[in-house]
Amino acid sequence: MQTTKSTEVIVIGAGYAGLASALTLHDAGTSVLVLEANERVGGRIFSEPQPDGTIVDHGGQWIGPTQYRLHAYADRFGVERFKTYTGGANLELWHDGTIRGFGLVGPEDGPGIEAYAEATARIDELARTVNLEQPALTPNAEALDSETAHSYFERTVADPDARLRLALAVQGVWTVEPRDLSMLHLLFYVAAAGDFEQLMEAENCAQDSRFFGGAQEPANRIAAHLGDAVRLGTRVLEVHQEDDRVRVVTDQGEYTAQHVISTLPPQAASRVRFTPELPLAKRRFVAKSVMGDVAKIHVGYETPFWRAKGFSGEAVTYGAPMVGVIFDNSPDDAASGVLVCFVYADRLREWQTLGAEARREEVIATLVRMFGEEARAALWYTEKNWSNDEFAGGGYAATPAPGTWIEHAAAGWRAPVGRLHWAGTETASVWNGYIDGAIRSGERAAAEILG
Ligand SMILES: Cc1cc2nc3c(=O)[nH]c(=O)nc-3n(C[C@H](O)[C@H](O)[C@H](O)COP(=O)(O)OP(=O)(O)OC[C@H]3O[C@@H](n4cnc5c(N)ncnc54)[C@H](O)[C@@H]3O)c2cc1C
Repeated sequence: MQTTKSTEVIVIGAGYAGLASALTLHDAGTSVLVLEANERVGGRIFSEPQPDGTIVDHGGQWIGPTQYRLHAYADRFGVERFKTYTGGANLELWHDGTIRGFGLVGPEDGPGIEAYAEATARIDELARTVNLEQPALTPNAEALDSETAHSYFERTVADPDARLRLALAVQGVWTVEPRDLSMLHLLFYVAAAGDFEQLMEAENCAQDSRFFGGAQEPANRIAAHLGDAVRLGTRVLEVHQEDDRVRVVTDQGEYTAQHVISTLPPQAASRVRFTPELPLAKRRFVAKSVMGDVAKIHVGYETPFWRAKGFSGEAVTYGAPMVGVIFDNSPDDAASGVLVCFVYADRLREWQTLGAEARREEVIATLVRMFGEEARAALWYTEKNWSNDEFAGGGYAATPAPGTWIEHAAAGWRAPVGRLHWAGTETASVWNGYIDGAIRSGERAAAEILG
C-alpha cells in the first residue's frame, strides 16, 4: 500500500453531494480529493445511451423550479433543461379494472378524490409546523414520530378509496409502504420540498423538467472541471481519526487529510470501519435509516405513439400490476418514444423475484393495457433495480424508521464527529431526498470546514 501526499480535505463519494462539496472547497482555494468507489461519477444519477442513441436516466432525472442549487450548477456548467411532456390525458387504472383519463394536475374526479384532497391539505398544514433544521424539535414530534403514515391514514381518513390514493402517493414518493413511514418524516419531507403537491406533480413541481444529455451531465462537467481531484474506482474501506489528521484506507491505497466529508448513503456508510467508533447516536441513526426499494424500467419505441392517441404517457395503477407509475420519457424533440415505469416498495419486492423474461412481460403487459397494442412493439427495454445496486443499496433515498428522528437525530443526523463531516441528500433540510438537497448538503458540509 502506498501513502499519497496529504490533502486538506477528502470527500467520500462523487454523487452530487460529493461533487458540490468538492467544488465549493475548490472554488475557495482548498485542496480536495474526491474518492469514488464506482467507475463513474453521479451516484444515484446514471445517464446511459440506448441502442438508438436515446439517453435514459436510470436514476434521478427531474428538476423542479424551486430546486435552485441544481439550476445554478446546470447554468454554471451550461446544461440546458426541457419541460416534461404533459400534453393529453393522464390515465388511472383503478383496482376494479376501470381506466379513467384526467387533466394536468391530479385526478379531478373518481373514488375518494375529495377526501384525498382534504387529507393532503391537512398534511400541508401540519408540515408548516416542522422544524427543518431540527425535526425532533417540531411541536408534538414524539407523537408524530411514533405514528406511521398507515396508522395516521386509518385514524384520520374515513374513505377507504382516499386511503388507497394516499398509500400510492407514499409508495411513489418514498418507495416504502405507509407502514414503514413515520409521520414526522413524512411531514419533514413535505416541508423540505415546499408542500405535498410539489412532490406529486410535474408542471411547476418536482417533475417539471429534465436535462438535455441526461441528469448526469452537470455531474460529468463538474468532475471534468475538478480534473485529477476526482479518483474513480477507489473504494473507501476505513476512516481513522488520528491526533492531527484523518487517515483514509481505500482498496487503492491510503490517503490523509485534515478533514473528511462523507457523502455516503446510510447503507454504504455502515460498511465503512470508523475509528474511534462513531458515537452511538450516529451509528443508530445510520442503521435505522433504510433505503427505499425501487426499479426504473425504460421501454423504447419508434415514436411516442400514445401522444397521437391523446395520452400524456403518464399513468398510475392501483391493484395487481407491479408497475406503479408511468411517464413519457421521450427526448425533447420526440425523435423516439420512451416510457419510463417505476416499480417500488412491495411491488418491487415481488417483481424482482421473477425471471428476466417474466419481469419484462409484466411491464409490457401493463403498457399495453394502458396505451394499447402498439406498446408491444418495443425497440429496446432496459431496467435498473436500485435495491441491487452495489453502491446505493436502494433508492430514491433512505427513510428513518419510526422513532429514529426523536431518538437519535440531535447528535446522529449530521453533526460533525471531530474532523469528520456529513453530507448526502439524507442530511439536507431543503429538498431532502433529491439532487438539490444533495447539493445543498455538500455545500453545507464544505462551509462547516471553511467556516
Ligand atoms: C430511481 C431513482 C429516481 C430518482 N429520481 C429523482 C429525481 O427525478 N429528481 C431528484 O432530484 N432526485 C431523484 N432521485 C434521488 C437522487 O438521485 C438522490 O437524492 C441524489 O442523487 C443523492 O446524491 P448523493 O450525492 O447524496 O448520494 P449518491 O448519489 O448516492 O452518492 C454517493 C456516492 O458514494 C459512492 N460510494 C458508495 N460507497 C463508497 C465507498 N465505500 N467509497 C467511495 N465511494 C463510495 C457511490 O458510488 C456514490 O457515487 C432518484 C433516485 C433514484 C434511485
